[in-house]
Amino acid sequence: MATPDPIRARGPVDLPAVEAAAAALLRALGYSLDDESLKDTPRRISRMYGELLTAKPFESTTFPNDGAYDELVVVRDIPFHALCEHHLLPFTGVAHVGYIPGPRILGLSKLARVVDFFSRELQVQERMTAQVADWLESTLEPRGVGVVLEAEHLCMTVRGVRAPGSRTTTSAVRGLLRTDPRSRAEFLALVGAASGA
Ligand code: ZN
Repeated sequence: MATPDPIRARGPVDLPAVEAAAAALLRALGYSLDDESLKDTPRRISRMYGELLTAKPFESTTFPNDGAYDELVVVRDIPFHALCEHHLLPFTGVAHVGYIPGPRILGLSKLARVVDFFSRELQVQERMTAQVADWLESTLEPRGVGVVLEAEHLCMTVRGVRAPGSRTTTSAVRGLLRTDPRSRAEFLALVGAASGA
């Protein structure tokens, strides 16, 4: 199984073009690039966006579920950061990812790689949550999938409503975690999310 499809069609980050645009932005903000301490900022910004918006390819090796394990597998507190597509400011937090295996299981470290993959885009938290769940569902054909993301959005804490410390929780459940109340409650208890999430 190969790298997931990208979220939307786009080319690679054009670093020289980003550097020129960053220089234009600084000038538009009223700054002179003759200022010694600012002169390398456009190049740093360009490298930063290159890093934040380039997903690392990965091989999502799956294994046969030989032991016929049919209980929840949950990895909690996977750290992530992504750029919100409305302000290009970061939102950062943790992901909790779980599934009830079907015929295939996935290396546990790959759950973190999947979260990282979908964070290297201009994102909204709701979509990213669903994308991680949908990818697991289509790759593993599990009996159930649950994904919870908890994040703080800089665009909410440093501007606008200025609500520092506020966290946004999103969840996506598929299969048994959607249809079976007991499985769903077990998942939500394991990830420490409110049962109404
Ligand atoms: Zn935003």
